[in-house]
Amino acid sequence: MNRKAILIIDMLNDFVQPKKKDKIIRNIIKNIKKLIYISREKKDLIIYVNDSHIIGEDKELLEWGNHAIKGTKGAKVIKKLKPLKNELIIEKREFSGFSRTNLNDILIRNNINNIIVCGLFADICLKKTCIDALKNNYNIIFLKDCTTNYHDNSVENTIKELKKIGQINDMELNEYVESNKNE
Ligand SMILES: [Zn+2]
Repeated sequence: MNRKAILIIDMLNDFVQPKKKDKIIRNIIKNIKKLIYISREKKDLIIYVNDSHIIGEDKELLEWGNHAIKGTKGAKVIKKLKPLKNELIIEKREFSGFSRTNLNDILIRNNINNIIVCGLFADICLKKTCIDALKNNYNIIFLKDCTTNYHDNSVENTIKELKKIGQINDMELNEYVESNKNE
């Protein structure tokens, strides 16, 4: 069986709340909700990859200001995409989900070669996570209508940059669902 891991990156109150009226963000939430539903049905491995920072230790906060502080509501996944009790949550303190976390160990233990990435933001945490995933030889599907850039809303630019580094399979959620049907 070709089991996949779905990485849902930083769909946290601190990232979503300020932009929750934004049409693009609302659409991303709707799409990820659908993705989660389908993935749970297929028993794929859903992993929430969440910023969880510590003040005074994490250098990133100096540049970006305080956000997603460990233990606060801001560092929790938004209600609409709430993880089930048995689903995995990885707490990261840098942009990449692989930096100083056990994400790679979890993927290896579960025999996973294919990862699906979505969430916020394409040009920062998704990009850094994809670069590390390429280094570790994972096949990556980048769901371009389940994410957006922080800086310019153009996910295509991020995909272009990633494709210079390695093989990234970009598709929309509907294409992914279709390609998944017969597996
Ligand atoms: Zn952060």
